This record gives sequence, structure tokens and C-alpha cells, in this order.
Amino acid sequence: MKKPSTKAINTDVLIIGSGLAGCSAALAAAKEGLHVTLLSSETNFTESASYYAQGGIIKICKDESLGLLIRDFQRAGHNIVNEKAVEQIYKYGPSLFDTVLIDDVKVPFDRDNNGNISLTREASHSTARIAHVKDHTGYAIQSYFYDHLKTIENIEILTNVTAVDLITLAHHSLNYSHIYEPSTCSGAYCYFQQNDEIRPILARQTIVATGGLGQLYLHTSNPKSARGDGYAMVYRAGGRIMNMEYVQFHPTTLMSAGDERFLITEAMRGEGAKLLNLNGEQFMKNYDDQAELAPRDIVSRSIIQEMNKTHANQVYLDISHKPADWIKNRFPQIYEQCKNKKIDISTDPIPVVPAAHYSCGGVAVDSTANTTIKRLKAVGEVACTGLHGANRLASSSLLECLVYGTLAGRDSARVLKAEKIIIPKVQDWQRQREELDTDLLRQDKLTIQHTMWNYVGIIRTKKKLNRAFDILTRLRHNIEYFYKHTNLDNNLIGLRNASSTAWMVLHAARLNKESRGSHYRVD
Ligand SMILES: Cc1cc2nc3c(=O)[nH]c(=O)nc-3n(C[C@H](O)[C@H](O)[C@H](O)COP(=O)(O)OP(=O)(O)OC[C@H]3O[C@@H](n4cnc5c(N)ncnc54)[C@H](O)[C@@H]3O)c2cc1C
Repeated sequence: MKKPSTKAINTDVLIIGSGLAGCSAALAAAKEGLHVTLLSSETNFTESASYYAQGGIIKICKDESLGLLIRDFQRAGHNIVNEKAVEQIYKYGPSLFDTVLIDDVKVPFDRDNNGNISLTREASHSTARIAHVKDHTGYAIQSYFYDHLKTIENIEILTNVTAVDLITLAHHSLNYSHIYEPSTCSGAYCYFQQNDEIRPILARQTIVATGGLGQLYLHTSNPKSARGDGYAMVYRAGGRIMNMEYVQFHPTTLMSAGDERFLITEAMRGEGAKLLNLNGEQFMKNYDDQAELAPRDIVSRSIIQEMNKTHANQVYLDISHKPADWIKNRFPQIYEQCKNKKIDISTDPIPVVPAAHYSCGGVAVDSTANTTIKRLKAVGEVACTGLHGANRLASSSLLECLVYGTLAGRDSARVLKAEKIIIPKVQDWQRQREELDTDLLRQDKLTIQHTMWNYVGIIRTKKKLNRAFDILTRLRHNIEYFYKHTNLDNNLIGLRNASSTAWMVLHAARLNKESRGSHYRVD
């Protein structure tokens, strides 16, 4: 006879992930008077892709027309953008920018001499509409958000806690009759890293905000936590996932020794930086009329083609025609990072390569972030609202996190008041005894990263995708076996999720024979 858990924790709203999407949802739900449990798998609460965002966040101004905004999104997203998602950010973006980011969180955006927020232009935007804090916008937003959330009593912040699997009535309830209920989420089993313990957190509403999947690739701008956990958890729970083939590659990350790829913001091309090949020639005009300001997918592909043509491992980004003081003031973080690598960007071009950057697809959600599973919402990069279509418009994801995160938090209150909620009794997690073999773990991770980079990367062919299918199908099977027999830790949880999510990207890329945006097939 299965016994109910003695370790379960109860909360109103469980939010998995503390990037901007998770923080926005937490603030909104807490304002509605709900008890919020906000998890991060990292030691530092702010560690996330949101923290590393450089360029900025779209600020929709009063005189902005919806038509122009939709045109810009459709152009970047290759005409498969969900216009309802653009309407959501157009409708809620301006007021949430002011009430949340300025009034509540007090983000110190750069301002002009009249005290107005300075706006810059980025690739594929028709107007200057990007607000920024120098070149470390994400760092400022996340640090100020953390300081604000810490002061709110009904938000409990848990770091070093990794969600392992979503709890659903059908999969986990000890009451057999619950399999006849509609597919419903009731929280998650979570690994408390410091106690080496897995406990169920039972929640009336669960919000997945786990960010992206860049770590599936050998070269990525993403932090270590972007290993695809959320996609894999929702997939296992039975939720709909869509558009996974559209993985955006950022054209310009700093090429240096080691596996960390520091991002050189698009805003630098917006400010006039030129892309040069190995011979010092400007080449973007040969590929697209918009040259350096073409959408990311076009620039990334052009760089790869130019690298192949010139037999080089990198190209160069040159901003050295601007005055040195202006460069140091506008891009202080990039200036310092490059200086540490002995590159003075005020005099020298910067060696750059493309890297996996953003997942345009994800967990399918509606206009208030509902997934296809009841009482489960998904927000931020892990979700697919359709805002990005086949390729993301620069600086649009932070705004999407803010808008959909807030709407998800608010809507949780409405749902919890309106509906009868079943909180099931579940078992304690059954742990396995075999010790973790870290050599297997390391090699399996590298196999995923190399396979995805070389065969499911920027330029895809049928042959490469089929080769990847052979490798990943077998590997996934082995990893599942490894997972089921081994004592869990954070890395093994990540490896299992990475193999499932990589497989989802590959599967979508094989099925879709049409080149569009960031999914580019040669045959
Ligand atoms: C270098 C860089 C620069 C960028 N620049 C910009 C920009 O200028 N403008 C813009 O709009 N966008 C930019 N982006 C994209 C943008 O930052 C991200 O898309 C966005 O921040 C994603 O936010 P998020 O809240 O969805 O996820 P994240 O910010 O990545 O947060 C995910 C959170 O989930 C946690 N987590 C993951 N798995 C688990 C688990 N199993 N259990 C518990 N917690 C978990 C992580 O620890 C983290 O706290 C940039 C991205 C990068 C990487």
C-alpha cells in the first residue's frame, strides 16, 4: 500500500524559475494576496539569462502604432508571428513598464538631459524604442527586482532547489479516481540540493518559468541553467510543445579560449559597428540589403557562410571609428570584458562567432499563459506565445517576460477564486541507490552539445538531421536508463532534461522541411 508523503510542502502558487518572467509572476500573484513559493536551481537568486541581458527592453511609447509594431515583429519573425501576442504586449507593455519596472522595482534606466528615458534602435526595429541601463540592462533589472521581492512577506524565495518533475493528478495522485479528472497540475517534486532531499511542493497553481535551452549547444550565450528543464518537465506531464525547431543563434559572441561565449550586444551594430571578414572587408551588403541591421538569423547565417568562404573560425565587429570615451560610456561592460581578453575595442575590431541564444518555440500557451494542462502556466522563454514566430525581434523577450509573467500571476488569483481545487495526496519520491558515474554524465552532455551544434545548428541538412536522430535516439534511451537507476543530483536531472529537449528540437527540425527564420534547411 502506497503511503502519503510526510515531507510535502503546501503553497498557493509555485513558480519554478527566478528570471524576469518568474519574478514578474511572483510580484503580481503576491499583490493579489496569494502565498508564493519562488524557486531557483541556482545559488544566486539573480543568476539567469535575464541577468545577462545587455541591449535592453522594448518601451512602447504613446504615439507607437500597433500596425507598425506588428509589421516589425512579422518581418523579424518571418510572418508566422501570433498577432494576438503582439496585441498583448502593446496593450499591457506601457502600463507595466511604468508601474512595475519604474514605480515598484525602480530600475535606473538611462535618461537624456530632460530626464526622459533614452531610447535606442536595434536591428529590425523601425523606430528607436529600446530602453536600457548602459549595456547591463538585465543585471540592473534582476538586482533591483530581487531587492524588491525580498521585502514582500508572502513571497518565499528558495534557492538551490531544482524542480524534478511536475506533479499531476493522473500521474501521481494516490486517489485512483483522479485519473478521470481533466489533466491537472498540482505542483512539483523538487530536489533540495543542500539537504540532498526530494520533496513534493503541492500548489494550487504552478507556473513554469525555467528559461531556455542554449546549453544543448556547444557554443551558447546562455547561462548553465538553460538546459531545457521546463520543456522536458511539461512534455513528460503531457503538455503541448510547439515551434521547437526555431532556435535563434546570436550572430556576435566574443570568440575566446574556454567555453564561455560572452555576448556582444546587437545594440553595437545599431550604433554603427561594422562586420568585417578575415581580410578586413565589410561583407553584410553581399547577403542582405539591410546589411548589419538585418534580422539575427540572416546575420548569423551570413557570418557562417563568410567564415566558410575565408576558411576562418571567426569574423570581426568593429566600432573603433567612434570616440573612445563614447564607447566606454555606452558599452562599459563589453569594453571591460574585452580588455580582460587584451582587446581594446576603441582601437581594435572584436573577434566574434555566432552562438545558440534563444528558443522561439516552447510550451504552447494562451493569452494569459495557460498551458494545455489545467492549473499549469508557462511564462518567459520556456513558453511559446507565438510572439517570436520563426525568429525573435531584438529586445522583445524581456518585455514578454514582464507582460506574460504579470498576467500569469494576476490570473492565478482569478482561477483560484473561481474553481474548486483538488490537492492530491502523493507518495514520497522513491530514490535509487546506484552511485552517479560523473564520466558518463560529462561525456553524454558533450555528445548532446556536439551533435546539436554540428547537425541541428545554423544550417541544417537532411543527412545531418538523420545522423543526429540516430545518435540522440540511442543516447536518450541510455540516459533514461541511467537516470532510473542512479541516485539523483542536479546534474543528472539536467542531463535527462537536456536529452529530451534536444530530441524535441531535432524532431521538429526533421518534420519541418520549409526553411523559415532561424530554421534553415539546405535540402
Ligand atoms: C547574454 C544574453 C543577452 C540577452 N540580451 C537580451 C536583451 O538585451 N533584451 C531582451 O529582451 N532579451 C535578451 N536576452 C534574452 C532574455 O534575456 C531571455 O530570453 C529572458 O531573460 C528569459 O527570461 P526567463 O525568466 O524566461 O528565464 P531566465 O532569466 O533564464 O530564468 C530562468 C530561471 O529558471 C531557473 N531554473 C531553470 N531550471 C530550473 C529547475 N529545474 N528548477 C528550478 N529552477 C530552474 C534558473 O535558475 C533561472 O532562475 C538575452 C539573453 C542572453 C543569454
